[in-house]
Amino acid sequence: MLYIGSHTSFLKDKGLLGVVEESLSYNSNIFMFYTGSNQSTLRFPIDKELTAKAHALMIENNIDKTKCIIHAPFIINLANNSSEEKYNFYIDFLRKELNRCIELDIRNLVLHPGSFTTLNREIGIKNIANGLNIALKDIDGVNLLLEYMSGKGTEVGTSIDDLKGIIDLLDKDIYEKVFVCLDTCHINDSGIDIGDFDKFLDEFDSKIGLNKVKCIHINDSYNQVGSHKDRHANLGYGTIGFDKLINVIYNKRLDNIPKILETPWINRNEKNTYAPYKIEIEMIRNKKFIDYINQ
Ligand code: ZN
Ligand code: FE
Ligand code: FE
Repeated sequence: MLYIGSHTSFLKDKGLLGVVEESLSYNSNIFMFYTGSNQSTLRFPIDKELTAKAHALMIENNIDKTKCIIHAPFIINLANNSSEEKYNFYIDFLRKELNRCIELDIRNLVLHPGSFTTLNREIGIKNIANGLNIALKDIDGVNLLLEYMSGKGTEVGTSIDDLKGIIDLLDKDIYEKVFVCLDTCHINDSGIDIGDFDKFLDEFDSKIGLNKVKCIHINDSYNQVGSHKDRHANLGYGTIGFDKLINVIYNKRLDNIPKILETPWINRNEKNTYAPYKIEIEMIRNKKFIDYINQ
């Protein structure tokens, strides 16, 4: 079955109910959101009533909560421990985010592994695994999804080997809770041709196991293979192109895995800005590209 949705907004006055309503307006059957600012640790308390209403609306509309995703803010960086105080703060904040997932009963949390900055990749990998071993201890019933990154700056998690390196260092009980979130823009920018996705999946399967893929972010890319840039483009308006993305979405080996759009809003800095998700989801369901931006 196709599970398709997009990034949505979790706003203070509407909470999870707003997320579900927004998703339904795009004809999504799943969704992803940040439980607050994506660039800070600012978080407001979760409203129980709005959450209950949201879950009722999800059931009414056949939205499977087990396929929905929460994204942790970018600022969490488990790769660098040069400041012990900061490292511990991020581990603690990650624990709080995991508990918010339980409170909202949306039990998949995507995390950017982090950047090693002044250290090196090998130490970064060790720091991330150690951080996860601490953060996930005694927190059960939430999946932590490490995102495959584009390799901007000193990002860790920018190859199958990086992710395998982290996963191999997890304690046995933590290993069960950790998964991977792929991202077509990031994979392209990391140096892999999305046109040869089965070859990528073969390598992933042999090194980590396809059962560890829990989500895929579907984005076109503004940049060439191997550019390490991470600039998402709307489907069909980037260097990957609509057809290669459709082949990923409908790849039989990825059936039932949630697919989430994180493509940019149209006319972002103008008054007539709008989300592309309703159109992109329609194009995906019909497997047919429409040049809606230039029309
Ligand atoms: Zn992400
Ligand atoms: Fe992503
Ligand atoms: Fe990205």
